[in-house]
Amino acid sequence: MRRRDFLGAFSGGLLWLESLPFSEKRLPFFEKRADDQSGQPADVIVKILGTAQDGGIPQLGCHCPNCSRARKDPAQARLISSLAILDFKEKQLFIVDATPDIRTQFDKACDRLYEQVSIEAKAPQGILLTHAHIGHYTGLMFFGFESIAAQRLPVYCSSRMKEYLANNGPWSQLIKQDNISPVVLAPNDKRALTPQVSVIPFQVPHRDEFTDTLGLVISGSRKKILYIPDIQNWAAWERSVIEAVDGVDTALLDGTFYSPDELPGRDLSRIGHPFIKDSMELLEKVAQKRKTTIYFTHFNHSNPALDPDGEARKSILERGFHMADEGLEIPI
Ligand SMILES: [Zn+2]
Ligand SMILES: [Zn+2]
Ligand SMILES: [Zn+2]
Repeated sequence: MRRRDFLGAFSGGLLWLESLPFSEKRLPFFEKRADDQSGQPADVIVKILGTAQDGGIPQLGCHCPNCSRARKDPAQARLISSLAILDFKEKQLFIVDATPDIRTQFDKACDRLYEQVSIEAKAPQGILLTHAHIGHYTGLMFFGFESIAAQRLPVYCSSRMKEYLANNGPWSQLIKQDNISPVVLAPNDKRALTPQVSVIPFQVPHRDEFTDTLGLVISGSRKKILYIPDIQNWAAWERSVIEAVDGVDTALLDGTFYSPDELPGRDLSRIGHPFIKDSMELLEKVAQKRKTTIYFTHFNHSNPALDPDGEARKSILERGFHMADEGLEIPI
C-alpha cells in the first residue's frame, strides 16, 4: 500500500501526525505536511530531501556507532543534504544541490508535486548548485545520456561553477550534448524562479579547490529561508550571521560537527566548518526570540547529535534549536 493510500485510510491521520513533535523524532513512513496558518495547503513549500554531509549516513565502510545504528535502523539513515522548492500553483519543482542520492530524492519531490494529478516528470524545472564538492553536484550525472538524457535542464550556479562544469569531464559532456544549460547566478542578485519564488545567492567562505561556494535566501510570497549547508566558519563570513538569521523566518545552517570532541587528533584550524556548540552560543538570543526557526543540517557521520537519545540532541532542542529531518515541509 502506498503511503498516501494508507494515510487516506487512516481516519484523522494528518491531525494525529500534526500533534507529534516532528523535528524531535524521525519516523520512517510519515512526513510532516505543510499548511499555512489558515490550515489551507501552502502554494509554495521547501521540502527537505536530505540532511547528511557529503558522505551520507551510514558512510561507506564505516562502523562507528552512528553508522551502525543507521544500518540497523533505516529511520536513522540520512540522505545527503538537498532541498526541493515546490510551487504547486505553477506545478514547478527546483532542486537545490544534485547529490549522489538524487534518484530517491527526485522521486520524493515528484510524489509530492503530482499527488493530485497524474503527470510524470522527467526532470525538474531547474537545479541550483551551491558548490563542487561531491555531495552537492555529482548527481548531475543522472541527467546525461546514460540515464534520462534531459533537454537543456537549467542549472543555476556561480560563474566559477559554470566554468568548472564546462571545462571538466564528464560534466562538459552534459553541456555539449545539451542535457544541461548552466545559468550564472550573480552574487546578491535576486533571481526569479517562478512568479512567486525567487532566490538571492551569496558567496560564503569554504574550501574552494574547484569552485567558490554559495549560500541562498529562498523567498516565497510570504516567507524567507536562509540555506547555508557548508561554510568555513561564521567569523570568516563578511556578513553577520546573527543579522542574516534574524532577517528570515527559517534558517538551515551548517551543522556538520557538534564539537571538537568528535574529532580527536584533528587540527581544528583545518576543520572548515563551524561547530554546532559555537553556533548555538552565537545565535542563542535569536533562537530565544522564536521569530526565526533555526535548524542544523549537513550532519557528518561522527556528529553525536545523530544519537536520538544522546546529550547533544537534548541540548540542541532545549536551547531552542532544531535538527533538520528528511520530509520536513516549510511553507514560504
Ligand atoms: Zn557538503
Ligand atoms: Zn560512521
Ligand atoms: Zn563542501
